[in-house]
Order: sequence, then C-alpha cells, then structure tokens
Amino acid sequence: MSLPPLTLYLAAPRGFCAGVDRAIKIVEMALEKWGAPVYVRHEIVHNKYVVDSLRDKGAVFVEELEECPPDRPVIFSAHGVPKAVPAEAAAREMVYVDATCPLVSKVHIEAARHSENGLQMIMIGHAGHPETVGTMGQLPDGEVLLVETPEDVDHVEVRDPDRLAFVTQTTLSLDDTAEIVAALRQRFPNIIGPHKEDICYATTNRQEAVKAMAPECDALLVVGAPNSSNSKRLVEVGARAGCRYAQLVQRAADIDWRALEGIGSIGITAGASAPEILIDEVIDAFRTRYDVTVETVTTAEENVEFKVPRVLREPA
Ligand code: SF4
Repeated sequence: MSLPPLTLYLAAPRGFCAGVDRAIKIVEMALEKWGAPVYVRHEIVHNKYVVDSLRDKGAVFVEELEECPPDRPVIFSAHGVPKAVPAEAAAREMVYVDATCPLVSKVHIEAARHSENGLQMIMIGHAGHPETVGTMGQLPDGEVLLVETPEDVDHVEVRDPDRLAFVTQTTLSLDDTAEIVAALRQRFPNIIGPHKEDICYATTNRQEAVKAMAPECDALLVVGAPNSSNSKRLVEVGARAGCRYAQLVQRAADIDWRALEGIGSIGITAGASAPEILIDEVIDAFRTRYDVTVETVTTAEENVEFKVPRVLREPA
C-alpha cells in the first residue's frame, strides 16, 4: 500500500541550546568526578527524557536544598536560583555547582547593578517560573516588581517613575515582550532597559525559524515539555504566524494522528531543552504513516558554546 505524501519542514535551529548542553554536561561531569548520588535542585532542564536519563546515571532531583544531605554535591539548574540558595549551601558547607545558564546570570548581574545604582527593578516574566523566581531573588523580597502583560503595566505601583529599570526572562515571546516593553516605555519614558530585551539568542532563533515555516505548514509540532517556557512560546508563535494546528508533544506517542488527518505538510521544531533523539523519534513516526520528504528551513546558524565551571575541569 502506498503511503500518502507529506512534506516535513524541519526548523533549524531547533532543540538544545548552549545553556542546556552545558547544564547537562555539568551533571554528567559531577557524577564522574564525585560518583553517585549527585543532587540536583529542580529539573536541571525542563525535559523528562533528559531528567530520567540523568536519574538513571545517579542524579537525584529535589526541589529544595534542605532535601539534600550536606555531604553530597548539589547542582543548581540552568534556570538560575535566588541568591539565598547558594548562600544557604555555603552556610551548610556543601559542595555546590551552579549550572545557571550564563545568559541568565547576565540578567542577574544587570538587575543587581541597576539596583545598586538606586533604580527600582521591574521584571517581565512568568510568575512562578524558576527563572523568574531566581532573577527576582537576586534582590531582597519585594524589590523587584513583576509584570506579565501590558495590562499589568497600568497597575504597577513604583517608588519613583523616573528611577526605574527592567529586565526580562530569557525565554519569552519576542512579540509579546515588545508589547510589554512599549507599554512600560509609554508609562515610564525614562525607564532603562537592555538594548534588545534579555531574550536569549536560542529563544530568538527558534521563534524566527517557526515564523518562517509556519505559513507553509498545515500543522506544526513542537517537541518539548509542558513546563518548558520556550517550547510553549514556540507553539504560540506558530499559531500566530498562521499555522492552524500548532501543538506541543513530549514524544511521538503524544501525536494526535486523528487531528492531523488530511495534512500535506507538517512543521517540526523543538524547544531548547528537547534532545535531538526525541525529534528523530517524531520524524520516524511520520515515516511509518507517510511518504515523507524532509525540507530543512534554516534561518540562522548557531555556534555558541559555554564552558563548564572550573571545579569540574580540575581533577578530583
Ligand atoms: S534558552 Fe537561552 S537562556 Fe535558557 S538555557 Fe538556553 S541559551 Fe540559556
């Protein structure tokens, strides 16, 4: 029986970013250096497959530092942590390695610098997301005001409208963030902010690739986790760019084949924490049902790499 034809547009870049790659390497190198168990505070990156693979190698995932025994190393996830967390680890004389992505650390430094200069900070981000919690936690409680939507900007109460600065979560939608920044600049014309928000290169590139291919696709699948901010944003960007069916899937088993009946083309991408093996699994699932022609849609080349912390490069 011949299979129906399907053009599969594959976004490039997609999947792992340099910060995720580094965070995973940190856990693997810590396991090599210190042996199991190595504790990891929060999912090292938001992906079940990655977390399960590291758990199989001896990583123990916890949500709070108090769940870790003081005599085992602990690693902080790529999303970053409030200042109080490494302080507490140091007070307990624990060995800890910070896997915070350097691009998130850069935002932490920015927030601290503005605050030292007497500016009140506003953060554009999602309430409760670990990156937002970590960035807001660089300053004392209540010092950073959170805005999630342009409407929030109307209600935010500031000390001095002329002494303000803002930072953003790194994994937001470029378009949504531009609207919030415009609202901030309109209400507070003297607010200081980064030149191009703090949205990172990986988030930007993955969203641009989806924008380029979405209008060509009958459907779009984003491989990623439901708690992955950048993956969820890719689904929204795809829908907004004109793709009538845009869905998040963690693995091939999540694909709703009935919803895809009659399509002639599909776009596939992956969030920054999704490994390539899961994208291959999804493509293979399409090959069992369709005569697939893969076309890669390349909108940027990436060659970013971050070093792991020195403690892991030194012999035990
Ligand atoms: S998505 Fe961006 S900020 Fe987050 S880990 Fe990757 S490179 Fe770093």
